[in-house]
Amino acid sequence: MAVTAPHIAGVAFEPELAARRVTILGSTGSVGKNTVELIESAGSGYVVEALTANSNVTLLAQQARRLRPRFVAIADPTKYEALRSALDGSGIQVGSGPEAVTEAAQRPADWVMAAIVGAAGLGATLAAIRRGAVVALANKETLVCAGPLMMAEVTRHRATLLPVDSEHNAIFQVFDFDNRDAIDRIILTASGGPFRQLDRAGMAGVTPAQAIAHPTWEMGQKISVDSATMMNKGLEIIEAHHLFGMPPEKIEVLLHPQSVVHSLVAYVDGSVLAQLGAPDMRTPIAYTLAWPQRLAFAGRRLDLAALGTLTFEPPDEQRFPALRLAREALQSGGGAPTILNAANEIAVEGFIAGRIGFLDIAGAVEEVLAQVPVGTFATLEDVLETDAIARRFARKVIERI
Ligand code: NAD
Ligand code: MG
Repeated sequence: MAVTAPHIAGVAFEPELAARRVTILGSTGSVGKNTVELIESAGSGYVVEALTANSNVTLLAQQARRLRPRFVAIADPTKYEALRSALDGSGIQVGSGPEAVTEAAQRPADWVMAAIVGAAGLGATLAAIRRGAVVALANKETLVCAGPLMMAEVTRHRATLLPVDSEHNAIFQVFDFDNRDAIDRIILTASGGPFRQLDRAGMAGVTPAQAIAHPTWEMGQKISVDSATMMNKGLEIIEAHHLFGMPPEKIEVLLHPQSVVHSLVAYVDGSVLAQLGAPDMRTPIAYTLAWPQRLAFAGRRLDLAALGTLTFEPPDEQRFPALRLAREALQSGGGAPTILNAANEIAVEGFIAGRIGFLDIAGAVEEVLAQVPVGTFATLEDVLETDAIARRFARKVIERI
């Protein structure tokens, strides 16, 4: 029997009675490991088709021996032999290189977790969408760099996008898709990161280790640095624009250091609906894994009485210019969000490697945005070309700093 449920593409998903066949792109990362843990604790309801990683052979092989996928792919081709020998005798097929990661996404799984970090995940995520799969989307950079194209492919192939990002997952849960006109605005909450109260002079000297130490969420390095600059919230404004079809001026940001109210939807009658929970990524991941049902798991639970107080404050775009840059890129349209994302990925890499300072991240992104032509924009080739140009330009900017 068909179950109608809210969805992004306009297509209802029919859950099979049999076990759900799943693939995890980026299974060795922070979101990927949480997904593996949930699948293992859920037991017989899931069978694994494929797992992929960039270069962590040891963890990928361990996960494969436990979850018994049919196929594993490692993006770094130099790691092929190591992975093959680690899985010798297991009967699990092994592939390497970016094409093998895309092949993993093309294989027949009902549900695909897109948890690769950065625009590097675009090809594989699109491959899953083009099969009409249910795609649990953690990889926000793909929507930032290729939003219009991805959403068109979702509609064309009748795929379903379920947001994993906690804010977008929260909005998805309280967004009345059948009464869009009744929605006045959406409000993304932000923890403010580790430097919420630091002035610009203080930020100038912060180290990568300080930037990566997030106060409320445990995440991969790149998104942790993005949270510290607040570029993460900027990327999330663009992500929300594409996922929910909301114009930029109807997407607000609200600082909420406790990370308990995960986001809100305001309606024209003055009602504001929010989704709350402990800051634990397993909750939004579990939501997408079982959707349209719910999955029970023994994770952190929200204890509001123990917390006592929840606080909110407006964001400060002077101290956190990344927020302004992301809004400007979204307003400019065309290739601007692609350029923003590419420049940010290179700048964050440069900061983590100790080549540039913390404030140089937004500085470099602003310079690249000002210099690289936005161009006309329609196809995947346009996206890839603009992404490559912006990366080259960003590397030059960083060398000069
Ligand atoms: P991570 O760095 O911990 O893991 C990234 C994964 O991608 C790893 O499995 C890695 O092997 C793989 N990968 C990296 N580069 C690759 C490449 N070139 N080709 C193929 N695979 C590659 O990152 P994460 O924190 O798990 O975040 C993953 C995505 O989810 C990001 O887009 C992030 O913004 C988003 N997200 C994460 C969280 C979180 O709590 N960590 C929350 C919301 C959204
Ligand atoms: Mg988020």
